[in-house]
Amino acid sequence: MSKWIFVTGGVASSLGKGVSGASIGKLMQLNGFSVTMAKFDPYFNVDPGTMNPYQHGEVYVASDGAETDLDLGYYERFLGIRTTKANTNTSGDIYKTVIEREIKGYYKGNTVQVIPHITDEIKRRFRIFEDMVDVAIIEIGGTVGDIEGLPFLEAIRQFRQEHPRNDVLCVHLTLVPFIGAAGELKTKPTQHSVSKLRDAGIIPDIIICRTEKHIDDAIKKKIALFCNVKKEAVIEASDCPSVYHIPELFHRQNVDGIVMKLFGLEPKKPLDTAWFSAVEKTDGNGCAHIGIIGKYTGMKDAYKSISESLHIAGIEKGIKIKEEYLDSEDPALESKISALDGIIIPGGYGYRGVEGKISAIKYAREHGLPFFGICLGMQCCVIEAARNMAGIKDATSSEFDPEAANPVIAMLDEQKAVTKIGGTQRCGEYSAKLKEGSLAHRLYGSPDITERHRHRYEFNPEYVETLEKAGLKVSAYHAGFLPEIVEIENHPFFIGVQFHPEFGCSIGKPNPIFAGFVEAAALLRREKAEADGAR
Ligand code: GLN
Repeated sequence: MSKWIFVTGGVASSLGKGVSGASIGKLMQLNGFSVTMAKFDPYFNVDPGTMNPYQHGEVYVASDGAETDLDLGYYERFLGIRTTKANTNTSGDIYKTVIEREIKGYYKGNTVQVIPHITDEIKRRFRIFEDMVDVAIIEIGGTVGDIEGLPFLEAIRQFRQEHPRNDVLCVHLTLVPFIGAAGELKTKPTQHSVSKLRDAGIIPDIIICRTEKHIDDAIKKKIALFCNVKKEAVIEASDCPSVYHIPELFHRQNVDGIVMKLFGLEPKKPLDTAWFSAVEKTDGNGCAHIGIIGKYTGMKDAYKSISESLHIAGIEKGIKIKEEYLDSEDPALESKISALDGIIIPGGYGYRGVEGKISAIKYAREHGLPFFGICLGMQCCVIEAARNMAGIKDATSSEFDPEAANPVIAMLDEQKAVTKIGGTQRCGEYSAKLKEGSLAHRLYGSPDITERHRHRYEFNPEYVETLEKAGLKVSAYHAGFLPEIVEIENHPFFIGVQFHPEFGCSIGKPNPIFAGFVEAAALLRREKAEADGAR
């Protein structure tokens, strides 16, 4: 029998419901419980995969290829779980399911309504995790008071009624702002948002207060009194050095103890604190200054998983990461990257900015600058090698020029066949075999890997032989013929991967390529410092 924790938010968006929920989940894991986490978003997009990264941040790819909200990345990075389509739900796909059922005559001519039909479908999706884990954490997107969020709150209210009292908890995240002129922290917004939640029939068990300043006992007492929770259940969530410090911050306030008490559970094992100390390693020995070259540089959330993967690798290796987002169309790009210790060219779509990326790759290749190309970044590195190493001057991708004479990146028949089954792209986990002795093989330490994909175009196998002769080596294939990884020998670190290694890593389990890349960058930084010292 599972227990359920619903996480709602009030006052403002972006307070970190995902991180707060995942932190509570982490604490439950450290106490020995199995945990999963799912997101229910009130917006109507059926497919977050088509949402603009400028508005919404990156599209996260779940293990089964579901294209989802970036919060699922936090669930995986904190909890080390593998998410699937079941971990992400939107009003759009919930309504679609109900409407499709209606069209098929499932409701036998009855009036189809938000209550009970939409709320029943929401509850059915909550129950998917029943008996799968000890604790399922459900994050409700948006803030209480949003019109489109009401069916979710109503579904939680019903769900709570239908389950034993100690099986379902509600955690509400609010903001306690500091008003400089008054020199005070203000609890009124929290009171209002909890009152809104109560209007929907939900009384929270725990209130987490985002704040810039320490919340003292008097304030906790006030919130407890007005919001009908115990004082101990008013939790301070002040700013931390990194989001990964939040589980410990919550533990110090006994959040896990409170949750277990409310659930009537005893810890399954003594608290495993190794995770807390693993996170501290961020403040370690080396440092690396990494450039991320793309076109959504104004919206850092567009590269969230890359940034987090760098930090998780940094934590593991004790290397502090400083990132810089560079616009691939910036005319001064080359001089900017020459000061860096490594560059990443992330995934992307369309031609804009591609020539800048290709020039940056050429610079990295010729100057021994650690380079890591991901998906479109790998495709650009194949184009660069074709043009500048193999002399195929007009080499390009058929994504940019469907009539290209030399499409070194192309939509292949095999890929077209894949797209007919899986929507429009190769999405989700695919396996690859690594070549013995390659950099990739050394990093992964095993010849067989599985990584997540999201793309339409491939390194055209017709050009593999020519490019290998010119010096760009293919070090991994999927199904024996689709190139998955390319490398250049005699370079400190140069690798391009067709997949997205930034999805699926977690604290303590960095992706091996990210780990190798940050080490190579930190090494270059040390070498540069030594050379400067010697001068
Ligand atoms: N636009 C490229 C493709 O569709 C790369 C996609 C990506 O980087 N995710 O193949």
